[in-house]
Amino acid sequence: MHVPFFTFRDFPLGLEAQVEAALVQEWRNKQFILGPTVSRFEQAFGQYLGGPEVIGVGNGYDALVLSLKALGIGPGHEVIVPSNGYIATINAVQQVGAKPVFAEPDPQSYNLTAATVAPKLTPQTRAVLPIHLYGQSCELDPLLQLCQEHGLHLVEDCAQAHGVRYKDQLVGTFGAANAFSFYPTKNLGALGDGGAVVTQDTAVATWLRQYHNYGQSKRYQYAQVGVNSRLDSIQAAVLHVKLLHLETLNAERQRLGRQYHALLDGVGDLVLPKVASSATGHVYHLYVVRTRHRDALQQYLARQNVQTLVHYPVPPHFQPAYQHLGYQKGDLPVAEALAATSLSLPLFPDLTQPEQAYVVEQIKRFFS
Ligand SMILES: *Cc1c(COP(=O)(O)O)cnc(C)c1O
Repeated sequence: MHVPFFTFRDFPLGLEAQVEAALVQEWRNKQFILGPTVSRFEQAFGQYLGGPEVIGVGNGYDALVLSLKALGIGPGHEVIVPSNGYIATINAVQQVGAKPVFAEPDPQSYNLTAATVAPKLTPQTRAVLPIHLYGQSCELDPLLQLCQEHGLHLVEDCAQAHGVRYKDQLVGTFGAANAFSFYPTKNLGALGDGGAVVTQDTAVATWLRQYHNYGQSKRYQYAQVGVNSRLDSIQAAVLHVKLLHLETLNAERQRLGRQYHALLDGVGDLVLPKVASSATGHVYHLYVVRTRHRDALQQYLARQNVQTLVHYPVPPHFQPAYQHLGYQKGDLPVAEALAATSLSLPLFPDLTQPEQAYVVEQIKRFFS
């Protein structure tokens, strides 16, 4: 058997036909940039999230950059970021001219917490930028309280967390401006690049609607020097179709996550994903296990035709791009340990029972 890490199979059944119909419709509409299809998706996603404003942008990275810019974060400012995240989050802080400051994640949930962020605050800190990593929401109440006490913005990176809830409220609605990515493999994925900024603040939303479209306030009038970062209508049409299935798709991911847990608990030295508390939902964007034998296990599984990935093998502070921040080996031990031991197993909504059983069987063989 061959088990891929991810597929784009026709799931739920009929989705492919709906996506194809949406594509044909957009071809017939002949309005490819902005336009009513984009507005309709922005409204639908906002309604799904419980009422915030949604501004479609070019990708998740742009959504982060524009969120920070909209909040006035730039040179001379510091932004607290997780030491174990994806590079896009850190790049966004650097891009607006601010300084990324790493805080360690909680070793159980892999997410930033108020306890690890607090010691990193300085008079230059303007924002805290946590990632809801692998699909689990951060413990948001303490983070929000910390931000409130110190007059900081919370900016949520929701690129891995479409449809995840913290205390019954969907993430992306807690921070001042929050970023989603619609990269094809995300829980809500387009057929190319796409992203969105989500905000409850109408002034921030108004500013963003101009800024992401060259700063245009009225046709051919430019209130400011903006950029071009727009969601296109073909992507918006596809996202609208898939949004209607998001809860179903996430429920399947959760079922598969529970199943992995039941089947892998106690196998070898495996550490399985933990849900931090009853408040922090998990939609298993990735199912990440840890083991001291990570490289050997990954090689063994590859030989058995089970595809796995590592998210992420090198922590940002070890990247040549971030040498200038001056971190040394051992400075961020939690992130370093996670990078050395994490392995992402195949988990996507239509992973079949035999496929999952095969993955589990091979892992058990490796450890026996
Ligand atoms: C995917 C991802 C991004 C970037 O999204 P793009 O659409 O690829 O630019 C940012 N942050 C995190 C945590 C991600 O997983």
